Amino acid sequence: MEQKVASVARVVEGMHVTDGAGVHLNRIIGSYELGDIDPFVLLDEFRSDDPDDYIAGFPWHPHRGIETITYMVEGAFRHDDSKGGGGVLSTGECQWMTAGAGILHQEMPEMKEGHLWGYQLWLTLAKKDKFLPPRYQRLTDDRMPTVEQDGLTVKIIAGSYAGNPGPAATSYPIDYFDARLGPGGRFEHTVTVEQDKFLYVHSGAVVIDPDGEAVEVRKGHLAILGEGVDVVITGKEEGSGLLFLAGVPHREPIVKGGPFVMNTQEEIQQAFEDYRRGTLF
Ligand code: MN
Repeated sequence: MEQKVASVARVVEGMHVTDGAGVHLNRIIGSYELGDIDPFVLLDEFRSDDPDDYIAGFPWHPHRGIETITYMVEGAFRHDDSKGGGGVLSTGECQWMTAGAGILHQEMPEMKEGHLWGYQLWLTLAKKDKFLPPRYQRLTDDRMPTVEQDGLTVKIIAGSYAGNPGPAATSYPIDYFDARLGPGGRFEHTVTVEQDKFLYVHSGAVVIDPDGEAVEVRKGHLAILGEGVDVVITGKEEGSGLLFLAGVPHREPIVKGGPFVMNTQEEIQQAFEDYRRGTLF
């Protein structure tokens, strides 16, 4: 039987929110419209030339039950955490922080002016992994392979594209790519049947399943893909680009409480209690 190329199941736009100490964000996952794409529970885009939008940063705050993955496309952010992890995240770099049982961290801009463009993704841990020991992975630009083909460049953060593995050590099979493509570019990737997959168009416009339903998706839109393990995307305009993500859903209850993501309301209350007592981290 011929395999089906995945087409678009749903298209969602982000919404403007402020978070941290007053950072202006485009919330793409974790909004009223789109609560989660299991196991991804939050995707924020920060992208501005105006320092007032980002200068306040995210002062010290806790996390439990998730991994926070920050990808800096342009600009610089400083990270420090209660386990001694830290450093400056510069253009093209990524950090993969496993909060697990608990961690305290701060994320502050390392720049006073200029263009800041990046993404924070939250990956909820499975019930059995909620209390993993915290871990911090710094993924420098030189560690992330880039696949270059005609009209296509794919930067690999996690998972493999065309046989090239990214550097992130992940708790589950996750694909995370930044693909740039022009009208001649063709992104072709096969996920597993277990994986949910979606893409966020951050620049220009692309066409999903170009030889089939050919759905055009423009900048600022997230497209959740339907059944079919083969993903084919072509560029519609010069300088188009997207984040591609795939992950296996845990299919467990997801309960969010501020910076914590657990499986029950009691576990959220316990996290706040542990934080108050100083035993979270
Ligand atoms: Mn945080």
